[in-house]
Amino acid sequence: MPNIRHILSLSGGKDSTALAIYMRDKISDMEYVFCDTDKELAETYEYLGRLEAFLGKKIVRLRDDRGFDHWLKVYGGYLPSSRMRWCTKVLKIKPFEKFVGTDEVMMYVGIRADEDRGGYITSKPNIHPVYPFRDDGMTLQDVHRILDESGIGFPTYYDWRTRSGCFFCFYQRKNEWVGLLERHPDLYEKAKQYEKTNPVNGERYTWTERESLEELARPERVAEIKAKQQDALLAAKKDKPNRPLLEILGQDEDDDNLPCSFCHT
Ligand code: SF4
Repeated sequence: MPNIRHILSLSGGKDSTALAIYMRDKISDMEYVFCDTDKELAETYEYLGRLEAFLGKKIVRLRDDRGFDHWLKVYGGYLPSSRMRWCTKVLKIKPFEKFVGTDEVMMYVGIRADEDRGGYITSKPNIHPVYPFRDDGMTLQDVHRILDESGIGFPTYYDWRTRSGCFFCFYQRKNEWVGLLERHPDLYEKAKQYEKTNPVNGERYTWTERESLEELARPERVAEIKAKQQDALLAAKKDKPNRPLLEILGQDEDDDNLPCSFCHT
């Protein structure tokens, strides 16, 4: 293919970062991009800065200038959810596709060989997704090794959250919301401000099902979530004692509905 561009889209997570390191010496004209929603954690920007220094190349930030709040109005105040994930489309995929234009592009995606999820689905015939980790049989263990050996390590938000993405991402588990509450109370408050009740029909727009962030932040509820998480960790450790903690934490209650590679790799 003539004049093909090679682009690796980083999510700010461990897998796409490890892929960037893995590909650094394989494709010399690789372009690195990050689709920035402006609702990311400070830890994500810090992690991208670390990677940028390692790669010795700029990571281009792509944005939709109208931003999340504009699109929330366009979508009638409906918070995005796994069933209606408009945020990924307008804040990640569209800016990426605009950046690519009509150029022929190989797009490098960090989905691993030990994952069972779909990749980047595009209607653009000029964008060709490739999956080097999947093709080369690279698993979570390899990602750990690559990040350790490079000295880049894991993003610091991994202490309390297993995925990259917006601070209010609806894919967060309950214990991760508790993590946000404790580590970033200001961001928790901002996320709470987005939740609304329709005064006409009483319908609630909340980030998590059946529970508002106000309800989730009650001390007794926080204690309950923490206890449940502790029990789950102990059970998982007992079941498979050698399993890394990160792998246990990364287990999703809702594996049929895994988030896309744009936000979380
Ligand atoms: S990280 Fe979550 S909230 Fe942000 S764009 Fe992706 S799916 Fe939407």
